[in-house]
Amino acid sequence: MSAGRQPRSIVILGGGTAGWMAANLFQHHWGKLGTRVTLIESSDIGIIGVGEGSTPQLKHFFDTLGIAEGEWMPRCSATYKTGIEFLGWSERPGHGSYFHPFPTAVDSFTAPQFFYNTRARRTGRDVWAHPDRFFLPTALAHQCRAPLAPPNFPFLTSYGYHFDAHLLGAFLREVATRRGVEHVDANIASVAVGANAEIEALVADDGRRFEADLFVDASGFRAVIIEGALGEPHRGFGENLFNDRAVVTPTPLPAEAPGVCTRATAKSAGWIWHIPLTNRVGNGYVYSSRYTDPDAAADELRAHLGLPAGAEVRHLQMRVGRVERSWVGNCLAIGLAQGFLEPLEATALHIVLATVESFIKAVDADGQSPEAHDAFNDRIARRYEGIRDYIVCHYRAALRSDTDYWRDATGHDELSDSLKDIFTAWFTGGDVAEEFARQDIGGYYSALSWHCMLAGYGNFPDDGRIRPPGDDIEIFDMDEVDRFIHGCALNFPAHQSALNLLKEAA
Ligand SMILES: Cc1cc2nc3c(=O)[nH]c(=O)nc-3n(C[C@H](O)[C@H](O)[C@H](O)COP(=O)(O)OP(=O)(O)OC[C@H]3O[C@@H](n4cnc5c(N)ncnc54)[C@H](O)[C@@H]3O)c2cc1C
Repeated sequence: MSAGRQPRSIVILGGGTAGWMAANLFQHHWGKLGTRVTLIESSDIGIIGVGEGSTPQLKHFFDTLGIAEGEWMPRCSATYKTGIEFLGWSERPGHGSYFHPFPTAVDSFTAPQFFYNTRARRTGRDVWAHPDRFFLPTALAHQCRAPLAPPNFPFLTSYGYHFDAHLLGAFLREVATRRGVEHVDANIASVAVGANAEIEALVADDGRRFEADLFVDASGFRAVIIEGALGEPHRGFGENLFNDRAVVTPTPLPAEAPGVCTRATAKSAGWIWHIPLTNRVGNGYVYSSRYTDPDAAADELRAHLGLPAGAEVRHLQMRVGRVERSWVGNCLAIGLAQGFLEPLEATALHIVLATVESFIKAVDADGQSPEAHDAFNDRIARRYEGIRDYIVCHYRAALRSDTDYWRDATGHDELSDSLKDIFTAWFTGGDVAEEFARQDIGGYYSALSWHCMLAGYGNFPDDGRIRPPGDDIEIFDMDEVDRFIHGCALNFPAHQSALNLLKEAA
C-alpha cells in the first residue's frame, strides 16, 4: 500500500450493520497507518433491525478481520446457509420449488451435465433439467447438514449465514471499539458543507461538532449526508422492482434443528422469507403497496405462519433504488443510505462489503483524484445494475399469473439490454454461458445461478412440444447423479452438531 493516501480521520454516521462493518474494515486496513475512526449513532433513532441473511461474502468479511465462526456465530444466534429455496414462483407442474445453491467444488462435476440438459430441453428434448438433483448445497439443505467439508473430504464449499441483526450489530460494535474505533451517541442535527461542496463537520443537537477528512454516510434510509446535505439524486427502481414495503414477525423455533437455507415463498403481492436462527425464525412479507395494503399483507403473513388474527407484526417501508454516485467529494455512502435492491437475494451487506473494500483499494491505488472517484462510482453502479438484473429476472421469468401483481411482474417490458440479451439466448436455445461471458457479468451472479433460476421455474417449451431426445443428445444417468450427490452429502456434519460444536468451543 502506498503510505499517506488514506484519510487521517474518518467519521461514520450510523451504527447499523453497515456502519459497524465499515468501521471494522477501515480500522483493520488503515488504523495501523494512523487513521482515526469515529462512529456516531443515535440511540434515540436506533437501527432498522432486519437483514438477517447473507451471501457467501460475509465469510470473507469475518476472515479478513480474523474472527472465527466460534467467536461470532453463537453470540449472534447464527446458522449456516447453503442457499435459498424458492417456493410457489412457478405454476408449471414439477416446478413448484427450486433451490439456488451457493456453489461448492463438488458442483463443478455435475454443472456441465446440468448446463447440457437445460440447453437440450430448451430445444425441446426430453431430458431432466430441473436443477435440484444436480447440486450438493441442495442436498445439504434437504438433509439439514452444515456446509463444512471434513478433512477426509477436502472439497471447497462456499456458504452464507443467517443471524440476528441486533446481536450482529452489538458484536461488531464490541470488536470495533476494542480495536480502537471511537463510539459516540449523538443526534446529528445538521451537516456543515463548505463552499466547494466538501463536508466540514457533522453537528449534533447538543452543539458538539465532528470534523474529519472523510465522512461515511451509513444513516440508513434517511441518507442524512449524501442526499440530505449533498443533494445527490436518488434513482428509484420501481419500474421493474415493485416491492416497497415489508411486514415482519418472528416465530418460535420448530422442534427440529434449524434449517440451512432461506425459504422465499411467493404470495399474492410479493414473497415471504423464512430465516432459521438458533433461537427463533425470522419471517417477513415483502410486498408492493400498489397491489395490497398493510392490513391485508399482515393478514396474509399471519395466515401463512398459522398465527392468530391480530398477532403482533412490525411494518417497514423500503426505498428501492440507489444514489447516482456513492462517493461524492469527501463523503462515501454505504448501506441503505447508498441504495437498496429489496432483500430477495440478501445482497445488501454484500454490497456494503464490496463498496468499502473497493473504496479502500481505490484510495490506496490512486488517492482521491477525480479519475478515482469516477472509476469507483462506475464500478459500484455496474454492480447495482448487475444484481438488479438478476433480481428483476426472478420476477420477470416467474411462471405465475394468478393475481394482478404476478401478471404485471411477469408481463412488463422494463428490461435492461443486458437482461434482454440473456432472455434471447435462453429462449432461442442459444449458449447462455457464452452470453454471460460476453457481457462479463459473472462477477455478480454466476452462470450456474442464472441457469438454476430459469430452469427451476420451468422456462422450457410446453410439454406438448417436448420430444424424445434423439441420437444426437447425450443421456446422463440421473440415478448416478443422485448417488454421487447423496454420497458426497453424507460426508458433511448434521447442522445441529456443527452448531453445538461452535457453542462448546465459544
Ligand atoms: C425488509 C428488509 C429485509 C432485509 N433483509 C436483508 C437480508 O436478508 N440481507 C441483507 O444483507 N440485507 C437485508 N436488508 C438490508 C439490511 O437491513 C441493511 O442493509 C442493514 O441492516 C444495514 O442497514 P444500515 O446500517 O444501512 O441502516 P440502519 O440499520 O437503519 O442504521 C442507520 C443508523 O444511522 C443512525 N442515524 C440515522 N440518522 C441519524 C442522525 N441524524 N444522527 C445520528 N444517527 C443517525 C441510526 O441511529 C442507525 O444507527 C433488509 C432490509 C429490509 C428493509
